[in-house]
Amino acid sequence: MENSADIIIVGAGPVGIYLGWQLAKKGHSVLIIEKDSKENTGSKMDQFHLETMVFDKYDIVPPLEGTDEFITSFKWTSYYGPYGKYQQVMKYPVTAMRFQFFIQRLIKLAEGDGVQFKFSAVYKEPIIKENNLIGVKIEKDNNMHKILGKLVVDSTGSSAVVRSSLPKDFGVETFKIEDDEKMYVIQRVIRWKNPDEPHPGTGKYEESISYIYYKTWVAPHFLPNANIFGGGQPGGYENQEKATEIFLQEVPFPPYEILEVHKATTAYRRSPYSLVGNGFFCIGDSACMSKSFSGEAIESSWNVSLIASDVIHTALENNLELSRENLWPINIGFFRNRGAKLAALSAQIPGAANTTKKDVIYLFKKNFIFSVRDFTSMWENLELDISFGRMIKIIGLFLWGLITRQFSKKALGTMLKYMKISGKIREHYENFPEDPKDFNDWSGKANELWSHVEKMKFTLV
Ligand SMILES: Cc1cc2nc3c(=O)[nH]c(=O)nc-3n(C[C@H](O)[C@H](O)[C@H](O)COP(=O)(O)OP(=O)(O)OC[C@H]3O[C@@H](n4cnc5c(N)ncnc54)[C@H](O)[C@@H]3O)c2cc1C
Repeated sequence: MENSADIIIVGAGPVGIYLGWQLAKKGHSVLIIEKDSKENTGSKMDQFHLETMVFDKYDIVPPLEGTDEFITSFKWTSYYGPYGKYQQVMKYPVTAMRFQFFIQRLIKLAEGDGVQFKFSAVYKEPIIKENNLIGVKIEKDNNMHKILGKLVVDSTGSSAVVRSSLPKDFGVETFKIEDDEKMYVIQRVIRWKNPDEPHPGTGKYEESISYIYYKTWVAPHFLPNANIFGGGQPGGYENQEKATEIFLQEVPFPPYEILEVHKATTAYRRSPYSLVGNGFFCIGDSACMSKSFSGEAIESSWNVSLIASDVIHTALENNLELSRENLWPINIGFFRNRGAKLAALSAQIPGAANTTKKDVIYLFKKNFIFSVRDFTSMWENLELDISFGRMIKIIGLFLWGLITRQFSKKALGTMLKYMKISGKIREHYENFPEDPKDFNDWSGKANELWSHVEKMKFTLV
């Protein structure tokens, strides 16, 4: 059986649905293919949060209080250093929601504007003609179906099934996200045994808590007297278990029981150098668009969806093919701006590898990197806010730290090295080529820059 649509999107996650919705609102026919049944779509995780401002920014009505989708809105996040000391308080409005209910609402919104969905339909392989992706083969009800379109979008999350099934010479990297490029997250839903006694979440400004040195957090949960006690580590779930043990020895919690345990991974690696090919575009986790300090890709990818839907709409309005060349402005729009910042941030991550507990304590005490100003700036602008005057002050702080032996030479060396590399990476991305003909030279230089960046390591001892 053969079907067709202007745009075929594979994957009904928050990113694929949002992009499809934007394109349908502009009058294009959109078909979204999803492997799960309609009811199960969005069941990959239970609760999540978004910065409250995204609802306005991306024109989505916020979840209503009293609905299953809404958990809570809060504005205070406390960041603690090693041993649960040195509280830094960030005021930043956040909305906590239940993922599956949110996804079901997005599906309704998209359907309302004409997006078609095919659920319980699994992407199998690309249909390629003369180096153009012209459609996909899917399996539904034990039958193979062909669907033809002007553009195929991969939004299948970190499995990236479409991108990784393309021919090697298609012009888009086909890498799979490797195990050592993932953060292994365990979220435990815990209930306090003595809820009237003080526990994380009852202190001042503790609506949400991040124990950043341990990559551990305590977030609100919708059950009474319950919280999410979560953590993520590189290298496997066993490292995450080990980190929790170390954390609880150093930051003991009052008695609690574990109600549920959820395990999942998020990708931590650079995006493919080009998001587009002839008849192809990748976005979301499949294109590794997450913010490296939080592992979150939804807001970033919605931002790219707005760029992409404009470029795709303009091409279709002008009866142009959705070729690599005509889709190239998506690459420019992403890599020269947000993509450059995201790349610079991920290049800085290994800088933390040589930062010991003592170094982190010093940075917390002196309000640098682990400070409310820097946390807020990362959330708001995806970069540290370092003016010339502040830089001079920071140099002074580092020197003082070295003299008084509160900060190690090794940590300073690594930090400066990765600041330099990430600065170069950012500059290179900001000069992403206008013309696809210059892409090979650009990606060769990008490979050279990334070759200096190590992968994340488990650093807790
Ligand atoms: C524990 C955890 C907590 C997180 N918390 C947050 C948070 O609080 N805030 C935040 O912004 N982000 C959070 N994230 C990250 C967020 O989940 C992802 O960035 C986001 O879901 C990416 O959206 P996506 O649409 O690209 O992919 P996904 O959400 O992964 O959706 C991909 C879709 O593609 C479908 N699919 C896959 N393969 C096929 C196939 N072969 N055929 C058809 N369909 C297919 C899947 O079933 C799925 O529906 C969290 C991640 C984890 C693991």
